[in-house]
Amino acid sequence: MLVVMQHGATQAQIDRVARVIEEMGYQARPMPGEQRTAVGLVGNDGRVDASRIEALEGVAEVIHVSKPYKQVSREWQPQNTVVTIAPGVSFGGHDVAIIAGPCSVESEHQIVTAARAVRAAGASALRGGAFKPRSSPYAFQGLGKKGLEMLAVAKRETGLPIVTEALDEEGAHLVAEIADCIQIGARNMQNYSLLRAVGRIGKPVLLKRGMAATITDLLMSAEYILAEGNSQVILCERGIRSFDTTTRNLFDLTAIPVVQKLSHLPMIADPSHGTGLRDKVTPMARAAIAAGADGVIVEVHPTPDRALSDGGQSLYPEQFARLVTEIRAIASAIGRSVLPTPGTAPVTVG
Ligand code: PEP
Ligand code: MN
Repeated sequence: MLVVMQHGATQAQIDRVARVIEEMGYQARPMPGEQRTAVGLVGNDGRVDASRIEALEGVAEVIHVSKPYKQVSREWQPQNTVVTIAPGVSFGGHDVAIIAGPCSVESEHQIVTAARAVRAAGASALRGGAFKPRSSPYAFQGLGKKGLEMLAVAKRETGLPIVTEALDEEGAHLVAEIADCIQIGARNMQNYSLLRAVGRIGKPVLLKRGMAATITDLLMSAEYILAEGNSQVILCERGIRSFDTTTRNLFDLTAIPVVQKLSHLPMIADPSHGTGLRDKVTPMARAAIAAGADGVIVEVHPTPDRALSDGGQSLYPEQFARLVTEIRAIASAIGRSVLPTPGTAPVTVG
């Protein structure tokens, strides 16, 4: 439930509304806006007596949020949330952001080489998994803590902020020590205790859509993170399972405008896992930006043929550099631009 205050309501009136909400056993989230302040009521169990709040001085109206997710919805917050993972690196604003790097961290040399290449091409953040959620227990599981240390070296060398996955609560605390954004992968999208844990940690979170999750499921999972007080959540379409095995997944391009209408959170796309095929990554990355995505996350490897995971869907650095140039042109055609790489001047498209 959302309590909208009158234009010009006093701070004392806003505080009184918040106090009454707390007295009723719920949490109050005051949200100052440009025109007027709203106070969100969190923990609504369907038994809230709205008349008690409506009668308070300074209250303009009480809005019942109809969706199973509340704080994530555009009803709750009409304006976009901008998630800033590092100085100058934001998602959900005017510019689109590009995260790139290998599927897994394999060695210090590999991740530093990849970081230098994606930075030179125009990426705004580095990806690379240290804890890998592999379908087979016999596949490469990632370098764990050592991998995190290598990511820290790559960050020091290039200045790129780090996006890397956590598989469980213990790992999330380790990841939070070096990462600028904690990735929750498709397989863990409905791991509710992990979602609550990253909500409490409070760092930006990249939440990927589960491979058999509806859009409502994705938004309800994001709600778990916001319910813990962390609104720094970036959503990601990464393809869903379908009957057709021609591509690894069915990349749901429509999810981008659908989510952006339902939620104020930034929405990016992962055309690498979305297609699973190197030559399909570029067309789908272009399409995602054209569809309005707030960014893309793309797998790039210095030597994809020798990659320990997802080599077949990883771009060669030259292919990625070409893709960034194309994304710049597409972004410009729809009135946006690509975020400048941290520490560099913006590139203008002629
Ligand atoms: C990844 O980003 O490397 C990954 C495992 O992605 P997903 O969770 O979307 O499968
Ligand atoms: Mn991968």
